[in-house]
Amino acid sequence: MRIQVGGLSEGIHEYEFEVSSQELDLGESFSGSVFVKASLDKSVHQIALQAAISSTGHFACDRCVREFDLPVKTSYRMFYVMEGGDEGAIDPTEMQVIPHGVSFIDLSDDVRQTVTIGIPLKLLCAPDCKGLCPECGKDRNTEHCSCSTAIDDSRWGGLERLRQNETSE
Ligand SMILES: [Zn+2]
Ligand SMILES: [Zn+2]
Repeated sequence: MRIQVGGLSEGIHEYEFEVSSQELDLGESFSGSVFVKASLDKSVHQIALQAAISSTGHFACDRCVREFDLPVKTSYRMFYVMEGGDEGAIDPTEMQVIPHGVSFIDLSDDVRQTVTIGIPLKLLCAPDCKGLCPECGKDRNTEHCSCSTAIDDSRWGGLERLRQNETSE
């Protein structure tokens, strides 16, 4: 995912990439294409990049373990400064230096990292997934069971434990 920046005129330049997730080494949760729309704003001393990424991951639901596809849409920005140039007040986490003699930038590592960070911590097949019954193990989205623990929302359970800890101190 390289962009030639040597000799690029000043101003806005748009690019679109489609790479396979294998090529990008995104791991086995991803199998299709990764789409990247990049916008470069080149000025005398630096290049500002804005990239929007869209891909689809394949995950197992945290509640019901069913496998599902999840669109992962994310974006990042990056400033590129020529080696020896003025880095100014740019946040170092959003800045890369282009070494002398190099005339391109490679987006692959940043795209891979951004997609990986963009995967939600809580992976649910649907926001209201009912999960598995803790007693009989049936998938409550598709089956009914007559177990006594009709609703066991673990979020409230956690809050309850928190309260008990507070009062016991
Ligand atoms: Zn689920
Ligand atoms: Zn049950």
